[in-house]
Amino acid sequence: MNRILWIDRDNLLMCCESGIIGQDLERQLRLQGFTSGHEPDSYEFSSLGGWVATRASGMKKNTYGNIEDLMVRVRMVTGRTEDSVITLERGSLVPRVSCGPDFDHMILGSEGTLGVITEVVMKIRPLPRVVKYGSVVFPNFQNGVHALREIAKERCQPASIRLMDNEQFQLGQALRPESGWIKMILQSLKQMYITGIKGFQWDQICVATLLMEGNVATDVTVQERKIYSIVEKYGGVPAGETNGERGYMLTFVIGYIRDLALEFNVLAESFETSVSWNRTLSLCRNVKSRVARDCEAHGIRKYFISCRVTQTYDAGCCVYFYMAFKYTDLENPVETYEAIEYAAREEILASGGSLSHHHGIGKLRAPFYSESVGQAGVSLYRATKAHLDPHNIFGARNIDVMYKAKL
Ligand SMILES: Cc1cc2nc3c(=O)[nH]c(=O)nc-3n(C[C@H](O)[C@H](O)[C@H](O)COP(=O)(O)OP(=O)(O)OC[C@H]3O[C@@H](n4cnc5c(N)ncnc54)[C@H](O)[C@@H]3O)c2cc1C
Repeated sequence: MNRILWIDRDNLLMCCESGIIGQDLERQLRLQGFTSGHEPDSYEFSSLGGWVATRASGMKKNTYGNIEDLMVRVRMVTGRTEDSVITLERGSLVPRVSCGPDFDHMILGSEGTLGVITEVVMKIRPLPRVVKYGSVVFPNFQNGVHALREIAKERCQPASIRLMDNEQFQLGQALRPESGWIKMILQSLKQMYITGIKGFQWDQICVATLLMEGNVATDVTVQERKIYSIVEKYGGVPAGETNGERGYMLTFVIGYIRDLALEFNVLAESFETSVSWNRTLSLCRNVKSRVARDCEAHGIRKYFISCRVTQTYDAGCCVYFYMAFKYTDLENPVETYEAIEYAAREEILASGGSLSHHHGIGKLRAPFYSESVGQAGVSLYRATKAHLDPHNIFGARNIDVMYKAKL
């Protein structure tokens, strides 16, 4: 089930079977001069149906929207089989409707528990003619967050804007490929400028990466002008296209680094949340120190915890945490990891963050579900589940602990 069924050039829509993998979808659309614009870090391996089932968010959501903004119609085959298989699908193919509660939102984020998503109609856009990366060095994370907040307030976010903290910046530096002596000299000159002349502290610096898109060069120039003037107010210094592109690509590589790290007895994983602007800095601080404390309490001597602001909105942002530790001395590394992540999730919730911005509930976060949606929310979910899937065929054991306990 991985075929594009049709492309509608007039209305900028395409209909596709749900099993298509992100990179294949994008490759086929590009051949026709289009893009979906949906680019989660996992798009090399994740599928269209999976994006809908988890309410995914792509790196370029500022321009193209999250999956719920991109999806126009969806078909889900449910577990209810009285006469024939029942499908849940909106009648008309139009950009918006006001027809009572929107049941597409029952499908979005259903995580395989209500039925199988088989077909999706999705918006497409003509490929942008101009694409440009950029980067900015900030003296510290706080200034970076304030700058991102103002860029969001002014609604001049580029397709992607991400801010990594100092720990992640240092990791990025460690992963730089070896360069020739001319590049090394240039690099030291740049470092001298940042630390010697601008007075930034190497252990405080943080970096934002930008991806700008437009149809003509001036589209990008206008974006750059606005963004860099805001950045300047917060002490940020433009740091060039190459660093921007490298930082952007680092996020794709992180999944691979995780697997490579395992071979060196390092367990690594990421978790994410969304949070309002006024609580962003305290949440990042609290979670990082909680993870550090817990690692030490478990006797872990070598650990890494860092964060990154990955998506911005009017009212807040999405924050990713990256955690890694050397597990050689641990009796049960997986249990230890789960205990630390569970505690970090408690800290996230106590600090005003959400259960998840786009990874979903799954099994790991199921114990927190009722707190997150309230008792009425849980009842509504259970009623929907009982109606659409009375025999619990789609017992993926995600989301709701009740169904988990039943199996
Ligand atoms: C390294 C890495 C980076 C990531 N980056 C991002 C990111 O940037 N943005 C983001 O949103 N997510 C990200 N994710 C999370 C994940 O890739 C996404 O949630 C993705 O949308 C899942 O799609 P999938 O096809 O891999 O689904 P799977 O992982 O196979 O399944 C996820 C859930 O969806 C259900 N499901 C899958 N297909 C269907 C279907 N057709 N019908 C009904 N249910 C279905 C499954 O039952 C399961 O519960 C990342 C994950 C990793 C490992």
